Amino acid sequence: MTRTVIRTCPLCEATCGLSIELDDADRVVAVRGDAEDVFSAGYLCPKGATIGELEADPDRLTAPRVRRDGRLVEASWEEAFEEVATRLHAIQAEHGPDAVAIYLGNPNVHTLAGQLYVRPLARALRTTNVYSASSVDQLPKHVSCGYLFGDPLAIPVPDLDRTDLLVVLGGNPRVSNGSLMTAPDLPGRLTALRRRGGRLVVVDPARTRTAERADVHLAVRPGTDALLLFAVVHTLAEEGLVDVGDHLGDHVAGVDEVVALAAPFAPERVASACGIDASAIRSLARELAAADRAVVYGRLGTSTVAFGTTTSWLVDVVNVLTGNLDRPGGAMFPLPAHHRPPRRPFRHARRHSRVRGLPEAIGEFPVATLYDEIVTPGEGQVRALITVAGNPVLSTPDGGRLDAAIAGLDLVVAVDPYITATSRHAHVVLPPPRILQRGHYDLAFSGLAIRNIANHSSAAVPLEDGQLDEWEILLTLAAIALGQSPPIEVDAADAFVLHQALEAVVADPAARLVTREVEELRTQLAGRRGPERLLDLLLRAGPYGDGFGSHEGGLSLARLEANPHGIDLGPLTPRVPAVLTTTSGRIELAPEPIVADVARLERHLEVVGSDGAGQTTGAVVDGAGQTTGAAQTTGAATTNGLVLIGRRHLRTNNSWSHNVAGLAKGQQLCTLRIHPDDAAARGLADGVAAVVRSAAGEVTVPVEVTDALRPGVVSLPHGFGHDLDGVELTVARDAGGANSNVLADRHLVDPISGNAVLNGLDVEVVPA
Ligand code: SF4
Repeated sequence: MTRTVIRTCPLCEATCGLSIELDDADRVVAVRGDAEDVFSAGYLCPKGATIGELEADPDRLTAPRVRRDGRLVEASWEEAFEEVATRLHAIQAEHGPDAVAIYLGNPNVHTLAGQLYVRPLARALRTTNVYSASSVDQLPKHVSCGYLFGDPLAIPVPDLDRTDLLVVLGGNPRVSNGSLMTAPDLPGRLTALRRRGGRLVVVDPARTRTAERADVHLAVRPGTDALLLFAVVHTLAEEGLVDVGDHLGDHVAGVDEVVALAAPFAPERVASACGIDASAIRSLARELAAADRAVVYGRLGTSTVAFGTTTSWLVDVVNVLTGNLDRPGGAMFPLPAHHRPPRRPFRHARRHSRVRGLPEAIGEFPVATLYDEIVTPGEGQVRALITVAGNPVLSTPDGGRLDAAIAGLDLVVAVDPYITATSRHAHVVLPPPRILQRGHYDLAFSGLAIRNIANHSSAAVPLEDGQLDEWEILLTLAAIALGQSPPIEVDAADAFVLHQALEAVVADPAARLVTREVEELRTQLAGRRGPERLLDLLLRAGPYGDGFGSHEGGLSLARLEANPHGIDLGPLTPRVPAVLTTTSGRIELAPEPIVADVARLERHLEVVGSDGAGQTTGAVVDGAGQTTGAAQTTGAATTNGLVLIGRRHLRTNNSWSHNVAGLAKGQQLCTLRIHPDDAAARGLADGVAAVVRSAAGEVTVPVEVTDALRPGVVSLPHGFGHDLDGVELTVARDAGGANSNVLADRHLVDPISGNAVLNGLDVEVVPA
């Protein structure tokens, strides 16, 4: 006998519906796309299809591990939490709260518990040493949107199904399946765009799979998108094409200032630096201005660069100046179903990191400085690290040095289902349950979706006797962090979390409530616990909610449970000015910290020179947080130097999913792609091993010769390097691959956000 369960796939941002067949022993026997899913309509990619293999992975931990005599051995949950409490309390008592750092990995945004219970854990630690994968990814977008719209989570997304022109910079959505743009079946949607007469323009140093099917591919030099976008703004202004649209008119401040800022960046002046003809840049600007509905979308390649915040800002500047922000077919703000607490105007750089003076952003310090905080003595030195679904050794800069630093900590606690390159250093490992044992709702991605939808998946498989749910692990750690000793009353801790959430909701005039008594709402939520109870509260108080009885037919968790294929809440609708939380209540197109950084971009343009030779890739930030100048000058068009960029693969997601044999299918995914001319000049051929060397370190990888990259540029995927001693990932170990973050210099950051520079690194490549 088999049974079928409907689930949302949590393996990437696309949130596809899955129809999963389980046998009597709750083993997955088949996975199909859920044809009735309101958003994905049956779409399924190879990652989602192997969810059964992931569920049955023999390397997945089923019990906690505790370090005894240098080895990680199985232990009971009681022993594991006792060990955490004893060590953590001693460190907190002796060295204070900042001695404990927390690192949150990217999978936290893919679980409901991660979204609802990780922040309470971070708050309970009372540490300023909060780090996450955001600062090796999209942090510049949060910062630029914070300044533009007042809310770092107000990120406009392409209204993909209604646009006539999509311009993609530094992204490969056909392979990533979308990022900061939640849309199942990106390949199908991009094909549909062109079938209905729309156009796709891709700006990328590599001829990616998205670029292969574009109408225009502009093979830009790595790290020069800001110059190109400023040249677009320059053209719009010079040719009288700026038109923010009647719908935005009174809601935008700073248009003239931005136009003035663009003056030095004429297409003819930036062309050789970008490696793009001036005429192509002018054509792009004219096409954007002329299209009825157009949108510019920038992703990782625009973010993990030396001008990450400036580039992310310019993406939205162009959308505003062409009248494409907040209108159908342009860049629009989703309205997710859950209630969000009222936002205060964005605040940034409220404090700076102890050693290098890097700015705080969205409550975190840049992970590029975690190593410094661990190894530099003094008050506040990090002596303990809690990772939640994170693998910073493989995912963050200077991975080799960070690996050694983490090994020397007094305490490492890993909430992780695997023994990875990072959790192998743990004193305690706490494994969360399997995917199908957890309820699921995409709090993060419904706020980035190209259509407003709501979809909840109930747990399909019960927890084993004695097994803890993810939220119970996180809440127990939070209670320990607050000084309590195990055993922890999880339900009491959860009641406290709920009480805080209830008080926040009833105090918010924007919540969809008529009744405002905490006790009454609490009574209506009875019968649920944990993340489902919090989710029910957020849905019912949210913009489509039932208001706890005041809005008949509105959303509640019960209603979602009755609709397992999801509920379609309709296309995106204009949200300006309601979405704005700037102090002025307007879109602040020329925020001071970004305006101030334009001078650095001008200096960069001067360094690059009129022939495009040599490119500064980043800025060194010294101990006082002062930008001291260009860190590197690359030789993309000179000498033997090459510029390194990253790449995505359909069959992986960052450092996860590498242990699924059915995904790699025996292919070597971690290769150094290099142009034939560059390979020939270095005596390299397909399949031979090459040493890639940067200022930070070196790795040895097999070569893949391809003309899909522009000359002078090489690419290496990230997230590999699982073959370290102690890692218990059988498939990933055997598959090989090098840790690209060994090459990433932690000193190279975007100085506004502190985000690491991972794209556009200066490297040397020689035969191994
Ligand atoms: S595209 Fe993403 S969400 Fe959809 S099946 Fe693949 S991994 Fe899952």
